[in-house]
Amino acid sequence: MKSQDVRNQFLQFFKSKSHSIVSSAPMVIKDDPTLMFTNAGMNQFKEFFLGNSEPKNSRVTDTQKCLRVSGKHNDLEEVGHDTYHHTMFEMLGNWSFGDYFKKEAIQWAWELLTEVYKINPENLYVSVFEGSKDNDKLELDTEALELWKAIVPEERIIYGNKKDNFWEMGDQGPCGPCSEIHIDIRSDEEKAKTSGRELVNADHPQVVEIWNLVFMQYNRKADGSLEELPAKHIDTGMGFERLCMVLQGKQSNYETDVFTPLIREIEAVTNKEYGTSEKANIAFRVIADHVRAVAFSIADGQLPSNTGAGYVIRRILRRAIRYGFTFLDTKEPFIYKLVATLSRQIGETFPELKSQKQLCENVIREEEISFLRTLDQGLVLLENIIEEAEGKKISGKKAFELYDTYGFPIDLTALILRERGYDLDEKEFEAELKKQKDRSRAATQVTAGDWTELNSVEKDAFIGYDHLESEVKIA
Ligand code: ATP
Ligand code: MG
Ligand code: MG
Ligand code: MG
Repeated sequence: MKSQDVRNQFLQFFKSKSHSIVSSAPMVIKDDPTLMFTNAGMNQFKEFFLGNSEPKNSRVTDTQKCLRVSGKHNDLEEVGHDTYHHTMFEMLGNWSFGDYFKKEAIQWAWELLTEVYKINPENLYVSVFEGSKDNDKLELDTEALELWKAIVPEERIIYGNKKDNFWEMGDQGPCGPCSEIHIDIRSDEEKAKTSGRELVNADHPQVVEIWNLVFMQYNRKADGSLEELPAKHIDTGMGFERLCMVLQGKQSNYETDVFTPLIREIEAVTNKEYGTSEKANIAFRVIADHVRAVAFSIADGQLPSNTGAGYVIRRILRRAIRYGFTFLDTKEPFIYKLVATLSRQIGETFPELKSQKQLCENVIREEEISFLRTLDQGLVLLENIIEEAEGKKISGKKAFELYDTYGFPIDLTALILRERGYDLDEKEFEAELKKQKDRSRAATQVTAGDWTELNSVEKDAFIGYDHLESEVKIA
């Protein structure tokens, strides 16, 4: 089944259950101080859940462009290294605003998966919220449990903790217990060795969560307490690319027709083959993933820049450039060339990718030129540092200068040094970094504008990437 049909069948199924099909909200959020990017389908409906405004229809379905690189939901470090977390992905969803609740949500989800998509029910595991003993003092979700027991044998029902089975959009906002649906796509041989039950929520690439049914009944307030919402709602989110993997009989999201055109194009422009080495594979996946995040963001009007959301986008793109540079030997701009393929692949569903194609290409190409120049200069400077080194130890101070003054990524420095058999004085580097942080903290107090924002993005919003480039863990 083509991805296009997977998406359509989802929407048509819920249309047949009296839902109206609505459009995805933009991925880039301009007017919410708590959120830079849409991280779930429910974001655009937040005000309905809170009871602050009235929906036109009480049942709605859509596919939503999401980006999970900052805040509470940050998957960036996984992306490329695993085969099922993306930065940008589509979340298929159905909603009830004070209309139906758990019974219909559970029954329809099951009907769609097993009768429409014809997934073998024996491969599906479902979870229910077990309750919590912390300040929230929440009960086991017996209602969901009883509903599931009527359709799924108990050995495939899992009791989940707050981390997995209580969904929250951010530190504040609508939230509630949830039931997740997981699928085991391993071979029979593997299944005989270990029960799928053991592997649910255990980061196994072939036992993955596909759908989350959230039973919205609380609002998390700024002081951390929960209050009951004025009405109860359904919020579901299914990972479109994961569903395609399942229905297309693949083992990785990157083997579905959502990604294969991009992977083939990367092969064509880099003259490398996907599947030959693990490092190159990761680079392929990072690039195929990140070009989507960046292009969708630009098409939404958010260009890479030095502050706020633009800075997040710039760093995603730089991560892709760096993986290409390091593992696929790409020394010339090439990521911009993938935009045409992406636009052909998904432009029917998201026309902004067609209308903004040229802009996306131009912006990405300029960014590539500029960052590749940084990388080139940095390499020459690093060469000098190596030549001047006494013995095999490289001064952390020098590496810091390269990072701080020339913008050369420290993890790349560490990697190159390691490959060449040199040792970086990490302690000294960390000390220099700390000094700089103290300096910039002092400077922030007297400087306004970009710098302030840049600082706050690094501190709060973009924690994952900081570990790679800015907090600087030298891994
Ligand atoms: P996981 O546990 O796999 O990280 P999650 O519990 O964080 O997923 P939810 O917040 O419940 O995910 O989102 C709903 C659905 O969206 C998930 O069931 C999954 O199918 C999909 N999804 C979540 N994060 C990603 C991602 N980074 N890339 C692709 N799909 C995702
Ligand atoms: Mg997650
Ligand atoms: Mg989960
Ligand atoms: Mg989930």
